[in-house]
Amino acid sequence: MRIDVFTIFPDMVEHFAGQSLVGRARGAGALDIRVHDLRSCATDPHRSVDDAPFGGGAGMVLMPEPVFAAVEAVDPPRPLLYLSPAGRRLDQGVAGELAGLPGFSLLCGRYEGVDERIRDHLCDGELSIGDVVLAGGEVAAMVVIEAVGRLVPGVMGNATSAEDESFSDGLLEYPHYTRPADFRGWVVPDVLRSGDHARIARWRRAQALRRTIDRRPDLVEIRGGIGPDDRKLLAEFALDADLPPRTDGP
Ligand code: SAM
Repeated sequence: MRIDVFTIFPDMVEHFAGQSLVGRARGAGALDIRVHDLRSCATDPHRSVDDAPFGGGAGMVLMPEPVFAAVEAVDPPRPLLYLSPAGRRLDQGVAGELAGLPGFSLLCGRYEGVDERIRDHLCDGELSIGDVVLAGGEVAAMVVIEAVGRLVPGVMGNATSAEDESFSDGLLEYPHYTRPADFRGWVVPDVLRSGDHARIARWRRAQALRRTIDRRPDLVEIRGGIGPDDRKLLAEFALDADLPPRTDGP
């Protein structure tokens, strides 16, 4: 998969793209990440990319000329997505959609953002990493690249690990433990050391359900509430206290 990033801070993104999982995937050719410096297309001696907003007001705005020129010079993979708090909210579903594409591109804003003509006439869409305002799109681009990149076939070492995680089946993930079995008196649940793999799988599912009910009732709603099998599973591990009322009959 190819991902092009347009930014005035290419070193930030380059450094990130050389590290850890993304860096290894890049080295192995599974991710082709190309970072473009918007300043390389500035035309004045100061390499300016921003100017004051028409109409006045605080802050600066990224100008259309260098941004259009940088994008048009490389003809990057589409869609070109402007990172913006006003964009479609990134979640695991959106990450999965992007991971299914041969490539896409990201435009990082700075200051007050970009000239509106860039949004209207250059970009194909907008992506937000959440209802929070960052100082620039670079960190958002890293979030997108990591979330999407790890779903690209061949990027994660263990292909099954993405299937088991939070959101993959509408639930948050179950708890994990490693050695030592007893740390300061906090003991790993017996079931995980029982060797009974069917029971371990049921315990994990029950824990995932309980955690989702407690922390993200909105996700429980989306998957259609808690069914009779869920209730039975939770009861098996004494996790059925204070469940929401049944909606599936008396
Ligand atoms: N004035 C803009 C507004 O109120 O929506 C915020 C501009 S912000 C300080 C500068 C840049 O950071 C934006 O152009 C965008 O590229 C990026 N950014 C900020 N918050 C973001 C978010 N939640 N998701 C994606 N990108 C974001």
